[in-house]
Amino acid sequence: MKYTPAKPPLTGETLDTLTARLREAGEPAFRAKQILDWLYKKRVRTWDEMTNLSKPLRTWLADTFELMPASLVFNKQSEDVTDKLLLELGDKSLIETVIIRVPQEGVGPEHSRKTICISTQVGCAMACAFCASGLAGLKRDLSAGEIVAQLLQVCYREDARTPRARMELASFDNIVVMGMGEPLANYDATLLALTIVNAEWGLGVGARRITLSTSGLVPKILKLADEPLGFRLAISLHGATDEVREKIMPVNKAYPLAKLIPAIEQFTEKHGRMVTLEFILIEDVNDSIDQAGELRDIARDLHAHVNLIPYNTVAGLPWKRPSNNRQERFADVLRAARVPVTLRREKGHDIDAACGQLRLKTEQDRGQLVAPPVAQSA
Ligand code: SAH
Repeated sequence: MKYTPAKPPLTGETLDTLTARLREAGEPAFRAKQILDWLYKKRVRTWDEMTNLSKPLRTWLADTFELMPASLVFNKQSEDVTDKLLLELGDKSLIETVIIRVPQEGVGPEHSRKTICISTQVGCAMACAFCASGLAGLKRDLSAGEIVAQLLQVCYREDARTPRARMELASFDNIVVMGMGEPLANYDATLLALTIVNAEWGLGVGARRITLSTSGLVPKILKLADEPLGFRLAISLHGATDEVREKIMPVNKAYPLAKLIPAIEQFTEKHGRMVTLEFILIEDVNDSIDQAGELRDIARDLHAHVNLIPYNTVAGLPWKRPSNNRQERFADVLRAARVPVTLRREKGHDIDAACGQLRLKTEQDRGQLVAPPVAQSA
């Protein structure tokens, strides 16, 4: 299950670890910063473009590191504002990275706000009943370098879309760790990757612009609360009582609401920032008025923001999205209590943008996956 590439990716190095490697090779410390500048600021894609390094150093780098551990298989653009990149890793595993563009009023499309959704595992072990990512279980964790590489691939794509690409490098507004996998189950690699993404010598994305989403691994939520970098947290709640939640999220057996809610409380206290509760609306599973009332009470106690997400249908799974009326009725229960709530406008439904769907289809097409198991009825 573990994959060790022949050469470690450059995208998994920090300024310190790269400096140490260069020292061993007899190079001065300042080379590390130069190399990371080429990678993250100038975004060259070959060693030979790193023109202020000697030829022997470039050869040493090429022998020692993989410059980019993920290659683009294809880029699927939806009719709305979502772009989905399917990437292939060194062991042929497939991962997905999504670009969500929100156009801004009064300016051209090149000024859209951009949120990038990244993956942290190939597959997922959490086995949420509604989710495509977990259908075939966990294949393996991603390394920090593979996680960072997704963002560089997005940069390459966006730079190419921007006129005068090299003069005006593309940037993005938010990163959400909501792609394939459970980020807190791959804690160390995810945190290292986000540290690189956040660093001034890396991609320089502020910690407040980065949101980790978890299905609710309580000990890891508490650990995250103690990290020096203040990343934001979103919790995939999807059920406002244990009875409903445990039908669709097996993780609720190990960490029921009586454990999860105090952990979220602790996180909020330490951070002083609002946590987001994500709640997918699935017809006749969790979209009753009773559930809305329970969710309202939880959100009010936690001072949390609620993100209601109409379910994206997954081929082979029986779940349905409730009607717009039902969605609004649910949201109204929260609005009436002045709980901050977003009912997410449709993005990317037409390109299978929900977690894990594109990979699932491609692997089925490639014959790498047997038919998805029949979903258990809730
Ligand atoms: N494992 C993490 C992050 C990945 S899932 C977590 O559970 O939070 C990111 C979000 O997409 C989660 O809220 C997840 O429940 C949701 N999701 C998964 N499948 C979906 C679907 N078919 N439609 C809508 N949202 C979905």
